[in-house]
Amino acid sequence: MYTRRPAFLFCLLLPFVAPGQQQTRNVILITVDGLRWQDLFGGMDPLLENEKSAGMEEADEPRARLSAATREERRRKLMPFFWSTLAPAGVVLGDVSKGSSVKVTNRYHVSYPGYSEILTGRAQDGAIQGNRPIQNPTQTLPEFLRRKLRLTKEQVALFGSWRVFRAIGESRPGSIFLNAGYEKLPSGLSPRLRELSALQFDILTPWPTVRHDYITFEMALEYLRTAHPGFLHIAFGEADDWAHDSRYDRVLDSIGYFDRALKQLWTAMQALPQYRDSTALVITSDHGRGSTVRDWTSHGQSVPGSEQIWLAIVSPETPARGETGIGGETHQRDIAPTILELLGIGYREYEGVLGKPIPQAFKAHLTPRPRASTK
Ligand SMILES: [Zn+2]
Repeated sequence: MYTRRPAFLFCLLLPFVAPGQQQTRNVILITVDGLRWQDLFGGMDPLLENEKSAGMEEADEPRARLSAATREERRRKLMPFFWSTLAPAGVVLGDVSKGSSVKVTNRYHVSYPGYSEILTGRAQDGAIQGNRPIQNPTQTLPEFLRRKLRLTKEQVALFGSWRVFRAIGESRPGSIFLNAGYEKLPSGLSPRLRELSALQFDILTPWPTVRHDYITFEMALEYLRTAHPGFLHIAFGEADDWAHDSRYDRVLDSIGYFDRALKQLWTAMQALPQYRDSTALVITSDHGRGSTVRDWTSHGQSVPGSEQIWLAIVSPETPARGETGIGGETHQRDIAPTILELLGIGYREYEGVLGKPIPQAFKAHLTPRPRASTK
C-alpha cells in the first residue's frame, strides 16, 4: 500500500492531461466474465490443476503445457501475449498478493451489477440487484460518448456473448450498435459478418443465453475493420459458464483463446491508421470468484473474494510499466471516469458518476511537480 503524499493529492485535483494534449481518440473496452485475478496473475491454479471435481482428471495435455515452477512462468504460459506484450505496454492492477487491489463497489458480485458499474461509473444497488434483464436505468458511458463526441450509432458498438448485454449496454434501446447473445446482425454488413451471423446458430454452446466467444470476437474484429467505431466494447462470456459447470480445463481453454484474441486485436489495431497509437485498450472483469477447491466455481455476496477483480490499461496517455510500482486500491466504478479522462473529457461531465479517474493510468501522474505547487 502506498501513502498519499501531497503531490499525489494535488494530482487528484487537476485534469490528468492538459486539455487538447491527448492522443487517445478511440476506446476499446474488453471484459471477460468472471476471469479470476488468481488465474490472470498466477496462471493455472496449483490448487486445481489435479482436481478431479474441477474436470482436470484427464487434462494431461493442458496440465503439461501450462505448469511451471513459478507464478510468473505459469501466467506467461497461460496468457503469453498479455504478459509479453500488453502488460509491459501499460499498467496492470489487481494482484492482491503484491498489494494491489481492484474491487467492485456493488453489493452483489454478480454480472449485471458489475458490468453496469463498469459502464456507468457507479453501483446501482437499488435498481440492479441481480442478472434480471431490466433495461439499464442510467445513461451508459457509450451512450454518453455518442452524444458528447457526436458519433453516429454505428460508431459506438458493443458485441457480447451474453444476451443480457442487450439490457445492460444502453438505457434507451437502439441508441448504440449492440449485438449480444444469439442474435442476428442487421443486413447490409460485410460478407464475413453475414457469415458469422449465420454460423452462431449452427455451433451452439451448452448455455441458452451465452454464445461462443469466437463468434462475438470475430464479429467485433470484422466490425472494427469495416465500420471503424470510436468506442467498441467486446464482452467475452464463456470462462464464467465453464467455471459454474466446474470445468477448469475448459476455463483454461477459454483464457487461452482470450489471449490469442487479444493478439489478433492488437495486430489489427496496429494495421489500421485510425487506431494505431491513438487507442485506449481497457481490459477488466465483472466480478471475481472463490479461491478454494469448494468455491472457485462460484461468486456472489456469500462467496469470499468475489468482489476482487483486476484491470489492465494500455493507451497513449498511460505509462508503460506493467505491474511495477502499481499499488493501492482501485474500484470498478473508476473505470468509466478513467476512460473519459483518457479521451480528454472531464469525467464530472458524466452526470451522477461516483468513481474517479485512476491516477496510475496517466503518465502525468508520474511527473514530479514543483514543490511550491503542492500546497
Ligand atoms: Zn457467473
